[in-house]
Amino acid sequence: MLSFEDDIPAATPRKAPAATPETIRAQVAGGILSREPVHDIDVDKHASTSTGRVRLEDKRVINGAADVNQLVPFKYKWAWDKYLAGCANHWMPQEINMQRDIELWKNPNGLTDDERLIIKRNLGFFVTADSLAANNIVLGTYRHITAPECRQYLLRQAFEEAIHTHAYQYITESLGLDEGEIFNAYHEIKSIRDKDDFLIPFINTLTDPAFKTGTPEADQQLLKSLIVFACIMEGLFFYVGFTQILAMGRQNKMTGASEQYQYILRDESMHCNFGIDLINTIKLENPHLWTNEFKAEIAELMRQGVELEYKYAEDTMPRGVLGLNAPMFKEYLRFIANRRCQQIGLDPLFDKADNPFPWMAEMIDLKKEKNFFETRVIEYQTGGALSWD
Ligand code: FE
Repeated sequence: MLSFEDDIPAATPRKAPAATPETIRAQVAGGILSREPVHDIDVDKHASTSTGRVRLEDKRVINGAADVNQLVPFKYKWAWDKYLAGCANHWMPQEINMQRDIELWKNPNGLTDDERLIIKRNLGFFVTADSLAANNIVLGTYRHITAPECRQYLLRQAFEEAIHTHAYQYITESLGLDEGEIFNAYHEIKSIRDKDDFLIPFINTLTDPAFKTGTPEADQQLLKSLIVFACIMEGLFFYVGFTQILAMGRQNKMTGASEQYQYILRDESMHCNFGIDLINTIKLENPHLWTNEFKAEIAELMRQGVELEYKYAEDTMPRGVLGLNAPMFKEYLRFIANRRCQQIGLDPLFDKADNPFPWMAEMIDLKKEKNFFETRVIEYQTGGALSWD
């Protein structure tokens, strides 16, 4: 048996020093340890040992009994289609030229202090956020999802989270920022830490080796964590930051960083849509989980998410900057939260909320080719090319 314990994310308590046979015997004798294993983790409890061919009717998104290694026959075509779309959108951070950003950042008159604060806070949040997202998928969600089409998408998504962390690292390095300050911001900056403190318990639920689905309570916990991840983390907590940097790009500032954020936004809107499809399919297959009490709990979490993201907007924009100000984000976050609620079948939370940034929709629909032909480096992918000499 293998254990996931060595890969528990840093936010969870670290395991105790390795036990020796003597200490285990002493602890059992003293009643500290049970003689029965507390939990016995299979590498993949869903990898069926049966040799039967998979039938469509046996596939389920959670608690399925069909062999997860047999991708076909397709039942969840929406997940496979998103996997293909994700692959078609593939990009790498170093394809984007950062020279203009570097010159602007190094020019003492290039940016105002408020603009520099936005960039540093922005990177401070995102540089660890996508790592948390990757942990959530690889160490948590993946284990509990029994539809191979969905697992295939999650594998692609996990790599995209790695690309995003790479992009933020690449921007940090290009600008010569203090890496310690940026990478530790999620501990040091309150508005960032508060968002992560909200998220981490839900990530920990899924990454806990003892957590198993199969009871209504556990399945609701899984569903809640998936909703927090897709609708609040990827679907709400990323949007103040994306809007700020993309607004900068629209004013011809930090155009390299802005281009990277456009690709990240495109990926993330796909992650969010996949998560919503996953949530809705689990709801369809398990209608007993969607109780009024559960819906009220989700609405309350969404409300808290809007509050936290608004505080982050205020902290990153103490004054109006780039034609943006914090109150505009109050409206925007309410607009997004209403949309997320509607996407998973909840009533809108806020009475009236319009989108003050209609141009953000165009950013999501970006065509990769449009910008890549202008900026991609000539020796694209030489590092990975095969030589036949
Ligand atoms: Fe993501």
